[in-house]
Parts: sequence; C-alpha cells; structure tokens
Amino acid sequence: MHRRALLATPFLATIRPARAQAPLAVAASFSILADMARQIGGARVTVTAIVGSDVDSHGFQARPSDAASVRNAALVLRNGLNFEPWLDRLLGASTPRGRVVTATERMALRGMGAPVPADRTGPRRPPDPHGWQDLGRAALYVSNIEAGLIAADPAGAETYRDNARAYRARLAVLDAWVRAEIASVPEARRKIITGHDAFGYFAEAYGVTFLAPQGMAPQGEPTAAAIGALVRQARAERISAIFLENATSPAILERLAQEAGMQVRGRLYADALSVATGPAPTYEAMMRHNVTLMVPAMRGNAA
Ligand code: ZN
Repeated sequence: MHRRALLATPFLATIRPARAQAPLAVAASFSILADMARQIGGARVTVTAIVGSDVDSHGFQARPSDAASVRNAALVLRNGLNFEPWLDRLLGASTPRGRVVTATERMALRGMGAPVPADRTGPRRPPDPHGWQDLGRAALYVSNIEAGLIAADPAGAETYRDNARAYRARLAVLDAWVRAEIASVPEARRKIITGHDAFGYFAEAYGVTFLAPQGMAPQGEPTAAAIGALVRQARAERISAIFLENATSPAILERLAQEAGMQVRGRLYADALSVATGPAPTYEAMMRHNVTLMVPAMRGNAA
C-alpha cells in the first residue's frame, strides 16, 4: 500500500495543472446570496448555502455543521438587517477565519411593513431586509460580493470583475423587462396579496402595492381582525392577485382567498430559491418567474 502511494505521487504531480489551487470556500447565509456568489465566483469558488432552497431564513435554527461552515469559510456572505438572526448568534459565539461581507452594505433602506392602514404611529419600523426584490439594489449586492471575493482572493480579481460586470448588465436588462411588464397592467390593478412583507422594495421600485397578512416573520400569526380587514379590502378594491410563498405556510393565505372568494394564483419565490429542477433555481429565474405570474393575475386574466 505504502509503496503504491509512493509510486503514484510523481504521476499525480505531472497531470496536475501547474497553477492548480483549491477553490475558495464561500459560506452564504441563504440560497439567493449563494447563487449570486456562484455567478460572480464561477469555477474559482465553492459556495455553501446554509439556509437552502425553499427554507425560511427568518426562523432558521443553525445546526453544529452550519457553525463549522461559517467558522471555516474564507468568505461569509450575509444579507444583514436582521434577516439572519441565527447567523448573528453564530458570529457572536465564535469568530470566523475568513472575512464577513454584508450584501446590503450602503443600501438605501426602507422601513419594514406593508402600506396597510394600521398603527403606523408606534415605534420606528425596523429596516426592511429584502433588498434583492429590487433588481437595482441587487446590483449593489453584486458589487459588495465582488469586493468581498477580490479581498479574499486577490489573484482572481480580474475574473470576479468580469463576471460581476456581465452579471450587473444582465440584471439591468431584467430590470427593464420587469418595468415594461408592470407597465402593461392598468395602474389601479397593480395590487397583490401575498404571505409576508417580503416585497416592499419590489413595491417601491416597480410601483406595485403588496398586502400581506403576516408581518416580517413568515411564521408570525396574523389576528382574525387583520385577516378580516384584508378580505374586505380585497373585495372592495377587486384585487385579483393572491399568491402563496415558497417558504411560508399556505394555510393563512388559503383561508383568506376562500373568505374573499379569490383564486390562489400560484407560488411566488420571496426569500429562497427553488430546487434546481424547480421554476426558480437562480435569482434571475426567480425574478422572471415571479413577474410572469404576477402580471396576468393583476390584470384579472383567467388562471
Ligand atoms: Zn422575509
């Protein structure tokens, strides 16, 4: 055995490319950041998404293996703005070996909450963490991740810059497409009911009103009064677009749809991508999928 290993060594040395190098280990807090890191990092990186496809990050509980991924990564990517309370706890408990990059760094913030008539006179609303729902802000995510990759792996700077530039260009094309699609819906009909307050930046960027029975945390329980108010509003404003979310329990929305006499129009991807074989395996596919469902539903076309 020992002899064989000795013999194999020079052979392996000759077939390995001269500049072979282990890929950079990147730990991304959730699937959308992981996809962005793969788009920018390409073959130079291996990316682990800690909160995987179709899983909600707000209520996630980290396992010991997740703590190890964070500790050992050369680069840890997080959204920030309290989207990953579990990661804040991990980072508080032990210092990772690599650098930690916050994708929402320097992002223009909006306050959390759907524009429903409620008690908005209380304490200041916390900042909304769901910045990726606006493709313009997603371009800032890309730049922040690009800078993090370059700092962690300066030898790959040119690759990261090229990939990030091409990626931002694709996102700009997608952004123009989303605007054109939304513009095809009469303004008074640009209203959507969905699970939790994940679409505030989409609302602000693209001029669509979102109403959600659940607040920031998808596991939160809305009151019967809040659901009743939404049912009345949906009827009065003849809202035709109601959606489930991929990582939020469907029970409340299904009940709401039934009470309002509305038909659920499918599933939007809010805080997590789909599995590889699903309709939203990448961030770009997710934005296309969501808008493709939203537009006919807002118009009131038959499902
Ligand atoms: Zn969310």
